[in-house]
Amino acid sequence: MDTQENIQLSAADPTPVAGFWSEEQPVIVAANVKKSYHLGQTVVRALRGVSLEVHRGEFVAVMGPSGSGKSTFMNLIGCLDRPSSGTYLLDGIPVREMSSDQLAAVRNRKIGFVFQSFNLLPRASALSNVMLPLVYAGLSLKARRSRARRALEAVGLGSRLHHKPVEMSGGQQQRVAIARALVNRPAILLADEPTGNLDSRTSVEIMAILQELNEHGLTIVLVTHEPDIAAYCKRHVIFRDGIVVQDSPNPTQRFASDQLAAQHSALDQEVHQ
Ligand code: ADP
Ligand code: MG
Repeated sequence: MDTQENIQLSAADPTPVAGFWSEEQPVIVAANVKKSYHLGQTVVRALRGVSLEVHRGEFVAVMGPSGSGKSTFMNLIGCLDRPSSGTYLLDGIPVREMSSDQLAAVRNRKIGFVFQSFNLLPRASALSNVMLPLVYAGLSLKARRSRARRALEAVGLGSRLHHKPVEMSGGQQQRVAIARALVNRPAILLADEPTGNLDSRTSVEIMAILQELNEHGLTIVLVTHEPDIAAYCKRHVIFRDGIVVQDSPNPTQRFASDQLAAQHSALDQEVHQ
């Protein structure tokens, strides 16, 4: 197989950074990344040297006790913050050397975020919520609408375009948030405890959507403290006291759609929120 031709044919990003980018290159490269917070006289060493690579198509669960640095790490890889030291490349782009404006632009173009608390505009329609990140994309209103509609269809909300978050269940709200995260076609989806506010059945539904997106090639890094949720991911990275103490493939990945099918047949009469 001609690798070079392969690279060009499958190039997903039309604006690679010259010299850095190739299909083989990891989406994320963190090398000895450290982050300290200064609180008056106290220094909190939230990350004490983290090295990690994430390749295209991975589905990583980041786990570890509260305070171990998971959110700090996600904020760094999501370009919400810069490391105190160490190297971080996002899609080949060295993040530490960027200005705040460049950081914001890269974040908007490359990263999709999903949070525990949905963070939607409660009184704007699902469609308006999902269109928001496209404000800077230089698209016509019509194109923004149609992209947002397609993103909502991809998460199974094609019939709820004009519903408002206040009129939706938690699971539906999180699906709107996932659609919003995807509408810019990011290189990676970052999810910090995305099922933390959902009951276990709805959590499995959200994991089914994430697994389907991952099967279509989306790279996902997800923080969770629940082993039941991590079970759906392909790789487990465990943090403790600001370092990675375990990084291993998940040999027993579970499939959420199988679980939902089993539940449907067993619990037909269960009332679904
Ligand atoms: P986790 O997400 O694993 O619970 P965090 O990354 O939120 O852990 O926190 C790691 C450590 O850094 C904790 O000791 C926390 O108190 C501290 N920390 C996190 N964010 C800040 C901040 N903005 N200012 C000061 N300390 C912080
Ligand atoms: Mg956290």
